[in-house]
Amino acid sequence: MRKQQPSSPKKPILTGKPCPRCKTGRLHKDGFTAGSKQRYTCRETSGDRVVCYTTTEPDLPYVNTQSGIRKEGDKNPQFRRPLGDIKRFIITAAQNGTPVHKNFLRSLKQYCRFNDAELIVIPIRYKNPTSSWTQSQINAEVWAPELKTYLYNQRKKLNANLVLLADIKTRPTATKPLSAFEAITAGESGILGHTKLQLLTVPTPQGRYPKILTTTGAVTVKNYTDSKAGKLGEFHHCLGACAVDIIGSKFFMRQVNADRDGSFIDLEYEYRPNDVYHAEPALAVVLGDTHRKFMDPRVQHATFSRGGIVERLNPEYLVFHDLHDGYAENPHHRKDPFIKLAKAQASIAGIEKEVVDDVAWLRKAVGDRKAVIVPSNHDNFLRRYIVDTDWREDVNNAEFYLDTALTMVRSTHMSLAGSETVDPFTHWVEKLKGPSCNVRCLRRDESFMLGQIELSMHGDQGPNGARGSRNNLRRIGVKSIIGHSHSPGIEEGCTQTGTSTPLKLEYNSGPSSWMNAHAIVYANGKRSLLFIIDGEWCFE
Ligand SMILES: [Zn+2]
Ligand SMILES: [Zn+2]
Repeated sequence: MRKQQPSSPKKPILTGKPCPRCKTGRLHKDGFTAGSKQRYTCRETSGDRVVCYTTTEPDLPYVNTQSGIRKEGDKNPQFRRPLGDIKRFIITAAQNGTPVHKNFLRSLKQYCRFNDAELIVIPIRYKNPTSSWTQSQINAEVWAPELKTYLYNQRKKLNANLVLLADIKTRPTATKPLSAFEAITAGESGILGHTKLQLLTVPTPQGRYPKILTTTGAVTVKNYTDSKAGKLGEFHHCLGACAVDIIGSKFFMRQVNADRDGSFIDLEYEYRPNDVYHAEPALAVVLGDTHRKFMDPRVQHATFSRGGIVERLNPEYLVFHDLHDGYAENPHHRKDPFIKLAKAQASIAGIEKEVVDDVAWLRKAVGDRKAVIVPSNHDNFLRRYIVDTDWREDVNNAEFYLDTALTMVRSTHMSLAGSETVDPFTHWVEKLKGPSCNVRCLRRDESFMLGQIELSMHGDQGPNGARGSRNNLRRIGVKSIIGHSHSPGIEEGCTQTGTSTPLKLEYNSGPSSWMNAHAIVYANGKRSLLFIIDGEWCFE
């Protein structure tokens, strides 16, 4: 029998392709990826690493990192230009190796021309081997040529409170692009280039206001891999931008969402590829929780005064959340004698007066528009009071109690779904509003949609009896605008308003993420938050 000759230990048999990372090792087959692709690994000169290099593309002459960035020969292109003294910006992102939406870019340029604004495009990278646009990996470093003069990838303070985080690259398929960046700026707000729209407010102990973190949306078309993450990225791809107005140390930020034809509405103007037009009246302004008794007069002024939000956007509907604060009958006060004492001294224990004042205010605010009152937990304090209280122990409110309770008793009946009773706050609004006031009080679970956006949920109740939040209401299969948390934000299909009250009330101690913010539904069905800072809300 012939003896098998061992190969010489000094001279390995060179099989496999050369490793592009270490140059001296070889790539050998090493099992399969989760996506059933052949994996090749170099282990020969691993040094302090377990393996030297792993790839599914052994023929590439350069190293591909997970983020799709070519290491070798990649000089990380720097895009910068002076941005001093600019007061208005419109900021978007562009994916590498991907065409721009030409008409959206043209509309963005109309915005810049009309508002004397600066367009900033943050370049972001994504490795998409199945892309129909990225013919070769060489394109990985290339952005659409039309964008050349607008690209910018530096970190830049736009004013004392706002930082452009254009140096940060987040994968376009990240489901929560802002997660882990909450602390990246100290007290300043930040803008991150990303194809998916997300916005949140973060409490800052050092500031009077929380900081806002937002992504931008993109000016490039959808270009994602044929994977689960890619499909999700494609679904949430936002053809959009972040409009920023700077006034001294303040800034105002709005979301721009383009239509398929590349046009978009910002405030009362519509920007189309060829020109700027007056937009059709907005479908709705959804006010940040009203809590009428505690409404901040500066928010009231910004919203309802001449030249204010309602006059300029001319919405068909006003939508109110937590219209009634229910301070007089707040169930959380029942066991606190000091709050009771303060209320008695200030003569604000009268429930009837608060309700009557609410409706009088509502009539004036609504005027000849249409309005919708979303059933909310604070409005529901009135029902809880009637259900839980013995009128003999609150004689100051006895007549109002008995009057309301009698109406409820007379309305009660059994339906197919169980017992039904009129909502007491709804009853008083209907009774006091007068025939000319076009206000509709929704029932719990009654739908109210405008522009395919569900506006009937307050946000206190989530799916299947859970507490409501943007996170559990973002994927209920319908776009929505909710209120309740007083902390505005955007999470996938769910936009949440802020509050119309001062940012510190009796019940929010500690650092707070509350802000004054309404939400708009424009005529084209797109939404934006509208922040109010010290009574101001935009550049003019
Ligand atoms: Zn509220
Ligand atoms: Zn609420």
